[in-house]
Amino acid sequence: MRMENKMANVYLTGAGPGDVELMTLKAARVVKEADVLIYDRLANPEILDMAQEHCEMIYVGKQDGRHPVPQDEINEIIYQSSLKYDNVVRLKGGDPFVFGRGGEEAIYLFERDVKFEIIPGITSSVSVPAYAGIPVTHRGITTSFRVVTGHETPDKKISQVEWQTFLNDETIVFLMGFHNIGLITRKLIKLGKDKDYPCAVISRGSTPEQQVLVSTLENIAKESKGMPTPAIIVVGEVVRLREKLKWFK
Ligand code: SAH
Repeated sequence: MRMENKMANVYLTGAGPGDVELMTLKAARVVKEADVLIYDRLANPEILDMAQEHCEMIYVGKQDGRHPVPQDEINEIIYQSSLKYDNVVRLKGGDPFVFGRGGEEAIYLFERDVKFEIIPGITSSVSVPAYAGIPVTHRGITTSFRVVTGHETPDKKISQVEWQTFLNDETIVFLMGFHNIGLITRKLIKLGKDKDYPCAVISRGSTPEQQVLVSTLENIAKESKGMPTPAIIVVGEVVRLREKLKWFK
């Protein structure tokens, strides 16, 4: 039976970057109370073990050799679950609104009068560099950072990115860009960035399998070949601070 005064039926929830302890208390609570968990590939599957025994698990992520579930189908799965259950948890890596398509899912629910709550998460764009000893801003080095999609469109362009504005010392964090690292670094060099400019690839950040590679724009694509995903690319002078700030083993 549904409780009439309940605040929300669907929780669009950030799971953090990997380390389970980087989940919020609120995210942990709703996962523990969930009747159904709708999730994609998470950096840490341990989170699923926190659910109650009767909790239904629906995986909607990519699987080797199979296409991912299309977004409109995911929206519908969430909606249908909300008709069936009191506590629907849509769990996403990092933060649900940072390249998480959480906004699209929330709009779908809004249009169908389903109550929802957003539970922000610790986004990988900031926390994964932190686990590699790289602060995204640092006094005297850079006053801003930018989080950019490195995802390629079918016409082989990185979508809608304003490349020509990347020429100052702003830190750039590319998500979903590892498979395009050659394209991205060549483009930055072509636009005038020094080929020796510092950058890093961080793979499986904040998990026991974390790997960090520090290199230059010119060499990083070659040197990072074969590093496992998920991985982010950080471009900026702040990468050099890792020498002193490296702490996570
Ligand atoms: N909503 C997420 C991002 C989703 S896009 C967030 O806020 O973190 C998925 C991309 O995030 C991956 O392609 C990768 O670039 C990055 N990513 C997520 N978790 C990561 C991790 N533990 N280590 C490295 N990169 C990660």
